[in-house]
Amino acid sequence: MKNWQDKRVNFALKAVQGAACLASDIQNEMVSEAITKDDRSPVTVADFAAQAIIGYMLESALPGALLVGEEQADILRSSIGREILERITDFVKRLIPGVAPEEVCDYIDRGVDNPGKNYWTLDPIDGTKGFLRGAQYACALAYVEDGIVQLGVLGCPNITPDLKQEKDGEGSILIAVRGEGSWISTLKGELSSDQFRVLTVSNISRVEDARLMRSFESGHTNTSQVDAFQSALGGLADPVRMDSQVKYALLAAGEGEVYLRLLSPDQMDYREKIWDQAAGSIIVEEAGGKVTDLDGKALDFSRGRTLRENRGICASNGLLHNEALEALRTVKA
Ligand code: AMP
Ligand code: MG
Repeated sequence: MKNWQDKRVNFALKAVQGAACLASDIQNEMVSEAITKDDRSPVTVADFAAQAIIGYMLESALPGALLVGEEQADILRSSIGREILERITDFVKRLIPGVAPEEVCDYIDRGVDNPGKNYWTLDPIDGTKGFLRGAQYACALAYVEDGIVQLGVLGCPNITPDLKQEKDGEGSILIAVRGEGSWISTLKGELSSDQFRVLTVSNISRVEDARLMRSFESGHTNTSQVDAFQSALGGLADPVRMDSQVKYALLAAGEGEVYLRLLSPDQMDYREKIWDQAAGSIIVEEAGGKVTDLDGKALDFSRGRTLRENRGICASNGLLHNEALEALRTVKA
């Protein structure tokens, strides 16, 4: 990768690596005991701890840069949040020795900016439901200029660099820089530029062979419309259900052809959050794929915290994009 020494690339890789490895520790140490009790605290701890790490690292690498993070620390500063703040601080200390709870809150709140002309956007744990099920999740960080994503990094602790699902394995980290391609390497261990492998989308162009991806959570999509889409497109394989932007990672690596985010019938006015799509979409585009909304419009990251001007997402390997949009039109009609 040519840009290895670039300040933003360097920061983004190290920050996501630190945050995603810490999240992986938290999933491994906290989730199994909590899963039977319907206790959401592991993901709360991981979400805040990951954002604190990235806020801290941004402030030392690129002071003053805008960060639009999903989380804010208000609740942790109140008395009801004290106990969970202690747990978060204990984990954050593994990367920032001696850090105090109030400093952890300040690092989290490094991410309270609103989007500007140039900004970073962060989903510290994307796929919180997957995290709690012991399944897929990602730490997602992206840099946006004038409404267009220029750099995206995904930390995916539960897929290997050859895209196999493996809990507590070596994990993977993906990066895309506009005009420079998409790359993948091992998440855990020393990052070095010669370890990164270039990613390319699949070259499948027959609709019958298309592998479709959708959210695991039915409430985040429209399951009957996904099925209708599948018949309209003529694809034969069952859709792959998976949490988080790991779906974008698989698409970029050629492990699927079409990824849809359809509007759930209960929330037809839902608009995608910028941090849920920014990193994943550039990774697919730079691997040769295409990402638009359900109407074929380019994603516009200049409209605030949501993709206000877009409806849902249609991502593909590029070769099947027109067919996918056409099938969507027949499903809607
Ligand atoms: P996924 O893992 O694909 O289910 O997507 C996870 C993301 O879906 C979360 O980060 C949420 O921000 C987002 N989300 C929450 N509610 C909805 C909804 N009704 N429709 C679409 N996405 C949603
Ligand atoms: Mg998310």
